[in-house]
Amino acid sequence: MAKRRRRKQNSNLPKWVLSAFAAAAVVLSVITFGGDMIGIDTSFVQECMNFIDRILYGGPTSPAPTLPASGELKVYVIDVGQGESILITTEENSLLIDAGENDKGDEVLDFIKQLGLTELDYVLATHPDSDHIGGMDTVLENIDVPGGVFFGEMPDDLIPTTKTYEDVLDVIEEKNIPLFTAAAGDTIDLGSGAVLTVLGPVDPQAADNKNNTSLVTRLDFGESSFLFNGDQEEDMEEMLVQSGADLDCDVMTMGHHGSSTSSSQEYLDAVTPEYASISCGRGNQYGHPHDETIEKLEAMGVEYYRTDLDGNITFTSDGETISVRTEKP
Ligand SMILES: [Zn+2]
Repeated sequence: MAKRRRRKQNSNLPKWVLSAFAAAAVVLSVITFGGDMIGIDTSFVQECMNFIDRILYGGPTSPAPTLPASGELKVYVIDVGQGESILITTEENSLLIDAGENDKGDEVLDFIKQLGLTELDYVLATHPDSDHIGGMDTVLENIDVPGGVFFGEMPDDLIPTTKTYEDVLDVIEEKNIPLFTAAAGDTIDLGSGAVLTVLGPVDPQAADNKNNTSLVTRLDFGESSFLFNGDQEEDMEEMLVQSGADLDCDVMTMGHHGSSTSSSQEYLDAVTPEYASISCGRGNQYGHPHDETIEKLEAMGVEYYRTDLDGNITFTSDGETISVRTEKP
């Protein structure tokens, strides 16, 4: 295994110490920047508050910071049949979330190369099921990923022993690709003002199946926001809502291919998406997306797209407005 990033530990410092730190930080900020009360550097204070949030709660509870957006952000929901693969590009960086089934690696790779990308900055695996990491070994073998691969934390009894999983780990080791364990509160800077923040799982050890180990991430770019749900089910959705994480987003990928085991009404009410994407295969054996999910989206007036009917789905944001284009009209 390559290097692993250590999980941030919660501190046992009493709250008054942290309050004192916050007060000192504000005072320092005023002194350092020479401002009066009006001139306090609010971004610095916000950074301090976020820092304290992380120590106290292990993750950001305040809304994600809004950085100035430059250029265009693209989120491609790639049609990989029954599975999921999502590519994010900014003018500076690229990040791939999942790579579909074992036989879809070449298609994902072609998609990446057709965009003119010669490397991926980052790859993130939501969870180690074959419909998400099956094609990842092919992608990693054929394109460099200097920023590394991110997996989530898994309880010991859920760590897979499958060939699919071993294949991915083997190529990571062979090519000496940096390997990280991502956890709630971690962020990946995608440049141009785009930041990906890991929101879940809130408690990876509480996962009772592989779907519930899914890394859930939000992407902020100016005023635009996206929520990527992997295959997390209702239990984990509820924990996310309870955690106070900032879930409100413009676009969400429907959890677990639109299955009724995900996308509780409570969760959808917290996200209130304008657009949704469903990654599923035409005529798949699971009946994804389930009618219950579609009914909820329609009742909420969400504009949704499905890879089985629409092919590749492309969301484009200039930091203010989002436009959608589908491969099939
Ligand atoms: Zn899946």
